[in-house]
Amino acid sequence: MRWDNLRLDGEPAAAATPLFARGAIGRTFDTPEFRGVTFFELHARSIINRVPGASRVPFQWTINPYRGCTHACTYCFARKTHEYLDLDAGHDFDSKIVVKVNAAELVRKELAAPRWGGHPIAMGTNVDCYQRAEGRYRLMPGVIAALRDAANPFSILTKGSMILRDLDLLAEAAEVTDVGVSLSVGFTDEELWRSVEPGTPRPGRRLEVCAALRGRGLPCGVLMAPILPYLTDSPRALAGTVRQIAEAGATHVVPLVLHLRPGAREWFLTWLAREHPKLVPRYREMYGRGAYAPKAYQARITREVEELAARHGVGRSSPAAARRLRPPGPAPRAAAPEQLTLL
Ligand code: SF4
Repeated sequence: MRWDNLRLDGEPAAAATPLFARGAIGRTFDTPEFRGVTFFELHARSIINRVPGASRVPFQWTINPYRGCTHACTYCFARKTHEYLDLDAGHDFDSKIVVKVNAAELVRKELAAPRWGGHPIAMGTNVDCYQRAEGRYRLMPGVIAALRDAANPFSILTKGSMILRDLDLLAEAAEVTDVGVSLSVGFTDEELWRSVEPGTPRPGRRLEVCAALRGRGLPCGVLMAPILPYLTDSPRALAGTVRQIAEAGATHVVPLVLHLRPGAREWFLTWLAREHPKLVPRYREMYGRGAYAPKAYQARITREVEELAARHGVGRSSPAAARRLRPPGPAPRAAAPEQLTLL
């Protein structure tokens, strides 16, 4: 494994990897939140990335200051990308985190380049930019400040409550450009959360973050993802989650059913076999032919969530007012998402 030659005591490694401008430094921190985690600090060559043309995502440019994610969601689609670094898509993805320490400096430089066209930039679309590492490395304040100073539109998708640390910066940026934030909250069952998303803030905390952002006047939606077949898709579970999303004052909710691409697939199905063995045949039937659940199932879940969103008033109220809203009967579709993402 090409990272094995890196010293873990803060000394620079002898050889640079071809992916990065300078050699890496491997570091560990003996604090409870980082126990068992190794950070590889690197100087990236570039930071604003163009999404490949074949991608089905509605954004063209991204910034990803980290690779790997200590949030450790079993279903994370980004797991496969760790293999490009010669790391594995399982435990390495959760515990060997690449940190592009020059991210903020590069963003400022690339935004100032004459060839840059001021396109909207999406963050948190590969791994979470507000994962625990951000508490130590503090890359995002510099990144947001650079975007603010260039009045460059951007969006952030996260499960991390640490985004509240940067609330003032986000509000400043929103005064000069379009800023969109989405929290990723697929369900609110806390027992399941501990098992399937063990490194993330609890779902209720994420919704509090949404409420705080809305309280500050920032747009904030919820990507209700992933919806896990037979685990979080009952009418009762969907209704409970959407009700809490409405109470948080989310501007919109976008449902997304679990998809299982290689990398995530093996890791998630191992978890499923351990925690819910009876469901394995049903998942095999559902995902036996590919990464996506059957279209009819996806359409039914989307319809149910949209109806619930309309009933609970998602997108129509402030956090406080949303708590009082329970309008019955038909209502318009949920507001269009500012950002449709992959998490
Ligand atoms: S789904 Fe998001 S928060 Fe979870 S491990 Fe992947 S990147 Fe991190």
